[in-house]
Amino acid sequence: MRRCVKCKGESVINLKSTNAAFCQEHFIEYFLRQVARAIKKYKMLAEGQQVLVAVSGGKDSMALWDALLSLGYRADGLHVDLGIGEYSEGSRLICERFAANRGARLYVLSLVDTYGSNMQEIVRRTRRVSCSVCGTVKRYLMNLVVQQKGYRVVATGHNLDDETAALLGNLFGWQEGYLARQYPHLPSTHARLPARVKPLVRLGEMETELYCRLKGIEFLADDCPLARGATSLAYKELINSLEEKMPGTKQRFLFGFWDRGRRSFIDTPVELKGCSLCGQPTTADTCLFCRLMQKAGIDPLTQPQVQEM
Ligand code: AMP
Ligand code: ZN
Ligand code: ZN
Repeated sequence: MRRCVKCKGESVINLKSTNAAFCQEHFIEYFLRQVARAIKKYKMLAEGQQVLVAVSGGKDSMALWDALLSLGYRADGLHVDLGIGEYSEGSRLICERFAANRGARLYVLSLVDTYGSNMQEIVRRTRRVSCSVCGTVKRYLMNLVVQQKGYRVVATGHNLDDETAALLGNLFGWQEGYLARQYPHLPSTHARLPARVKPLVRLGEMETELYCRLKGIEFLADDCPLARGATSLAYKELINSLEEKMPGTKQRFLFGFWDRGRRSFIDTPVELKGCSLCGQPTTADTCLFCRLMQKAGIDPLTQPQVQEM
């Protein structure tokens, strides 16, 4: 194993993409510097700004929460408890223990307490693809919490591997609208909607996992039981085999797209109006959340049950 490029101490990781090895201390320093660089480059947050971190209990969002606190941001957590058996119980406990240990604020929104049904049941009754239903429901509920509690920015744990796979998928399908909108900082498009930021885009999943292990941050390693053979996995495998032969490919592809490629894709701005049922901003008459909930036989206007700790 190579020696740390900073102190010549024993290294814990060798990053081929930048040809640098780091010891434990200098890897943590490197990790935080990459998060700070992304925040600065894409103007995600002002110094010490308050931000709501969407935390699933997985390695990425837990590393993100820790990093934002370590960098001096007022980072509060929001966990949506999907009620999927042991998987969700474990996820929730991890978020709760982290908040207690770090003295951070955490909101937990429970689907079962709110609707009397878990995500599995809701998905089954809508007869739609689970990840798209789950994504719509989570996003909608997060927006409600953001509005109730007065946050302006939501941060998610999407990393370099997630974003590169998403970019490749969108290119293969020539999804012009998605390509125009794929960016690590999406400003708010409506008074009721938060800005969305992804501060981990410079770091891969191996690095977020190592950061958690080195800092003793607990995370749930299991994948969501509802996600079946996601296509993003196929893209990740393809990209990783290219990265293996040509280190630095991921960064060149993704950052080059954001610096130069993205401007070739035009996003036609859509007018947002109030949903006929819930009043939340939408491009349709009735928003997708309300339509999905109605299909699942649930009153979309049910007040979400949020615990604050
Ligand atoms: P995923 O699509 O599962 O990879 O999740 C992407 C990001 O969404 C994570 O890094 C989290 O920031 C957020 N997220 C996913 N699941 C949840 C959840 N149950 N509660 C809160 N945030 C979540
Ligand atoms: Zn070192
Ligand atoms: Zn609605």
